Amino acid sequence: MRLHELSAARIAGGVRSGEFSAQEVLKAFLSRIERDEPRVRAFLALFGEQALEAARAVDAKRAAGDPLGALAGVPVALKDNILVKGVETTCASKILRGHRSAYDAHVVERLRAADAVPLGKTNMDEFAMGSSTENSAFFKTANPWDTGRVPGGSSGGSAAAVAAGFAPLALGSDTGGSIRQPAAFCGVVGLKPTYGLVSRYGLVAFASSLDQIGPLSRTVEDAALALSVIAGHDARDTTSATAAPEAALKSGRGLSGLRVGLPKEYFVSGLDAEVEKSVREAIAALERLGARAVEISLPHTRYALSSYYIIAPSEASSNLARFDGVRYGLRAGEAASLEQLYERTRGQGFGPEVKRRIMLGTYALSSGYYDAYYAKAQRVRTLIARDFERVFAESVDLIAAPTTPTPPFRLGEKLDDPLSMYLSDVFTIPSNMAGNASLSIPCGLTAGGLPIGLQLIGGRFKEGLLLGAARALEAERPFPRLEAAA
Ligand code: GLN
Repeated sequence: MRLHELSAARIAGGVRSGEFSAQEVLKAFLSRIERDEPRVRAFLALFGEQALEAARAVDAKRAAGDPLGALAGVPVALKDNILVKGVETTCASKILRGHRSAYDAHVVERLRAADAVPLGKTNMDEFAMGSSTENSAFFKTANPWDTGRVPGGSSGGSAAAVAAGFAPLALGSDTGGSIRQPAAFCGVVGLKPTYGLVSRYGLVAFASSLDQIGPLSRTVEDAALALSVIAGHDARDTTSATAAPEAALKSGRGLSGLRVGLPKEYFVSGLDAEVEKSVREAIAALERLGARAVEISLPHTRYALSSYYIIAPSEASSNLARFDGVRYGLRAGEAASLEQLYERTRGQGFGPEVKRRIMLGTYALSSGYYDAYYAKAQRVRTLIARDFERVFAESVDLIAAPTTPTPPFRLGEKLDDPLSMYLSDVFTIPSNMAGNASLSIPCGLTAGGLPIGLQLIGGRFKEGLLLGAARALEAERPFPRLEAAA
């Protein structure tokens, strides 16, 4: 049996029943990593001995007759903005090099309690700012389907790790599309939960009102399984939803009778012809399965990108103020004053995209400009959220759309053009602005063999509905697998 091809659900079942051990599972994935990581470069760090210890502990628990958790023996790759106690967390930034986390993130505590095996930290765009993982201060990650192309970002390392068979499951974070866009580019499932469903405790903040942690996996069932482990109230995150997540987690009934909205603002010129064709075929399949497609309009979509690029940098400029050379990681030496210490540390430690965001955000928040930019963007955000609320109240159960306007682009292709890079997230950002549940599933390949993603968007706490629909579609049209394509 090729253990590295099994789903997380299947692995956990096999470990629980004693069909194979957690250590065997870990070895199988490590040998895949050994074989292919040099050309993919998904990981900033592997846990090595720590992962082996965790696997051993799971096996010992089973040997002792103790019940095992929902992710028994499942190796999980973690984006490097998620804290793991005692381990370096860099956010792929030089400014955090050498910084070891003092505690586990809430999601890591949950993974451990479910007997998962944390495997390593994945590469990302610096502080999660980007759409290609090329903004990592350390190295670039390749798309396993075509190593001349980007894996997407900012959770590119997590998406590439799952696509390459390095881990059955990974966690990423999504502020404007950073789980769904790389999932689409790497041909895997990526779920951005409703804002507040998963605790952000121990996630390094980028834009706090938009950030959510979520899973990347090869199957819809695994995304649902991972969500059931990491979701739920946590008093340490003041925005954590207190409403019981049952509604969010109760798996939907498939597609029969569902009204699926096709927003005309998401099928526009600029949408790649192959992406559109593949997404429309997937929608036709949704209809064959009993859904009814309805054209809808979300008129404020056109303002989502510009208002996001006011709100996200504003929050980032405030959140990143804490990296000052005093408390974390890098400290520039030879400073004559405290001010110079800040200047030098931040000058040397942050990369160009992070500096661009800090400048944008500081400007938008400065007195005299605050009302014109930040306050206005917040009002636009409300209108975007109301667009969604209206269609969900009046006419549709969920929305289907492309995840990205194009298939994965070439490494370097958009590096000198930030605006064109920002446009990669034009279809994912509105759901962050509204706090909606949203996921991407693979829906086909281009003629050149590159993955394409279908995005399903639901109202707040409608994960169960989305996952049920996605699962029905997956059963009808199995996802293209990298192994089969290679
Ligand atoms: N690409 C978007 C940005 O650069 C979204 C990033 C994210 O979701 N973390 O801000």
